Amino acid sequence: ERPQLLDDEEGGVIFFSAPSSAAGLYGYANLERQRQRLPVYKFRTAILYLVEKHATSIVVGETGSGKTTQIPQYLKEAGWAEGGRVIACTQPRRLAVQSVASRVAEEMGVKLGEEVGYTIRFEDVTNPGVTVIKFLTDGVLLREMMDDPLLTKYSVIMVDEAHERSLSTDTLFQRRRPDLRLIISSATIEAKSMSAFFSSSKKRPIQVPGDHIPEAVPAIISVEGKGFPVEIHYSEESFSNYEPAGDILVFLTGQDDIEAAVRLLMEDGQAPESRSSGLLILPLYSGLPRAEQDLVFSPTPKGKRKVIISTNIAETSLTLEGVVYVVDSGFSKQRFYNPISDIENLVVAPISKASARQRAGRAGRVRPGKCFRLYTEEYFVKEMPNEGIPEMQRSNLVSCVIQLKSLGIDNILGFDWISPPAPESMIRALEVLYSLGVLDDDAKLTTLLDPMISKMILSANEYGCSEEVITIAAVLSIQSIWVSMRGAQRELDDVKLRFAAAEGDHITYLNIYKGFLNSGKSPQWCHKNFINYQAMKKVLEIREQLIKLLKRLGMILKSCEKDTLAIRKAIVAGFFAHACRLETFGQNGMYKTLRSSQEVHIHPSSVLFRVNPKWVIYNSIVSTDRQYMRHVLAIDPSWLTEAAPHFYQLQKPYPAAY
Ligand code: ADP
Ligand code: MG
Repeated sequence: ERPQLLDDEEGGVIFFSAPSSAAGLYGYANLERQRQRLPVYKFRTAILYLVEKHATSIVVGETGSGKTTQIPQYLKEAGWAEGGRVIACTQPRRLAVQSVASRVAEEMGVKLGEEVGYTIRFEDVTNPGVTVIKFLTDGVLLREMMDDPLLTKYSVIMVDEAHERSLSTDTLFQRRRPDLRLIISSATIEAKSMSAFFSSSKKRPIQVPGDHIPEAVPAIISVEGKGFPVEIHYSEESFSNYEPAGDILVFLTGQDDIEAAVRLLMEDGQAPESRSSGLLILPLYSGLPRAEQDLVFSPTPKGKRKVIISTNIAETSLTLEGVVYVVDSGFSKQRFYNPISDIENLVVAPISKASARQRAGRAGRVRPGKCFRLYTEEYFVKEMPNEGIPEMQRSNLVSCVIQLKSLGIDNILGFDWISPPAPESMIRALEVLYSLGVLDDDAKLTTLLDPMISKMILSANEYGCSEEVITIAAVLSIQSIWVSMRGAQRELDDVKLRFAAAEGDHITYLNIYKGFLNSGKSPQWCHKNFINYQAMKKVLEIREQLIKLLKRLGMILKSCEKDTLAIRKAIVAGFFAHACRLETFGQNGMYKTLRSSQEVHIHPSSVLFRVNPKWVIYNSIVSTDRQYMRHVLAIDPSWLTEAAPHFYQLQKPYPAAY
């Protein structure tokens, strides 16, 4: 009953926020009590103290101790989200991001996507300006870093599950803003090596006198949970049934064998007197539909026993209450790259001892449990490797190198990795990029992939218009596709009208490219239209290079047909920093750049030369008598905030007129 709850010794909860209904209050107080029972709660003050004092804090604690769900809330309660700042928490997997975010929203009694939100690829459930705790995959954070290298909107970044050591997290640790706090957390992190890494002088943020600058030396805190003992059973031992109640967690390798196992158990469950009839069989893997995920987390119905058949996502990323028995197949799916054959594969491979212990530990969450290992003790002791291989050392590094280069980190071979990749892999990646024309002789990114163009292409992949955007990228990477026509400006202008698109030059280039293809790539057609045939041949060539590169990065070529909105948004995603607003109308009106209020004009070669749309973005500037924008596209200013909210809200407030 409500009044009693308020008097309850643990009823202090209402101070944090105001639940709207009695039912909400009850659920909320309940959740609040659960929160306070988590092992991490005893360390709340200590963690907050460390984060305040140290640039980097390392939190180690076993799965289920409350690191992921609680620490971001503690930070918010302690004021780290005030003044428009955001607390970020990264997870290596999308499913974990969604699940943890919705749990935290529930605990805080808020709607997911408001104060608590999440971002994964293709899905942004945040409300900029409102969201203060944001869960995201580390890949997404790395992407944000490309637009905003100092990650200015974040006050604290918690890199969770750091033992997974994805390529992205390794990259994230490289650079930072002095006042940005980093929390590294994990169940099985080798805390010492991490601490040594951050203590090396290169990794420390610059020390500046002033009381808000934290100490560079990292702090380590261990939040012990009170796990229960787990009996280990190897496969020789016969076990006929699991008598006492408790859920079963089975580790298999991937969606296919999980679905197969679920099917088998379900069929068995149909048979009369079947052993599976009291079982609730549930699959768990990334990409599982939302409703099925929820089943996994909902309480086990009375008289039933849940059997969750999972990938290694349940190893550390997700906490499943009620599991008492674990069945460990000893395998997981892992990505492996062979630098000699240059082939990357997802293969089923034996897990490490660290993983095996972690899996067994899942059985001791609520009371003493049992773990059944489907391999022999001898194999465990003598053959199983102690630690897994960090992703960095078993991946194709092509996309990683591009990301680093786009972040302006050029000395890749001399780069200070936490776990350095194999030199062969690195050299292979550089060779591939060189042969694709992405790197030049000095191992610098060529214009083919300058950061803005790369960003445009990556975004095109998401907007489903990569087919069109690589054509645009190819055209932008050459001098000009027009035949130089000194003294014949009129004729050239007339010809341009045949292809001109109201949207601007980029879309015009697409029309020209289409015309060129329809003509059968004819030199005569080019001649007739004042188009440089050699330039068009070069465009075809660069397009081919880009196609190879995209395939290499696992992207799919896709055409958006006639939807130029998608194309224009992708372009803005790359070139948002080059936005201008029309200031004075007239023949060749004057624009000002939004970033620095510089005066610029549309170049006479642009199809928008006489049109002067109110808002434009450009590709480059040429200075002659004036500053001229080349390759100009008309835009809607709302696309800018959509593409780069941090850029247009924090650094440059919108001009009052908008
Ligand atoms: P850690 O990050 O230390 O592994 P978590 O913060 O993920 O721990 O989990 C703390 C507790 O919160 C767990 O014991 C679990 O009971 C609960 N919990 C976490 N996620 C969910 C969820 N999606 N649904 C229900 N309970 C959850
Ligand atoms: Mg966690």
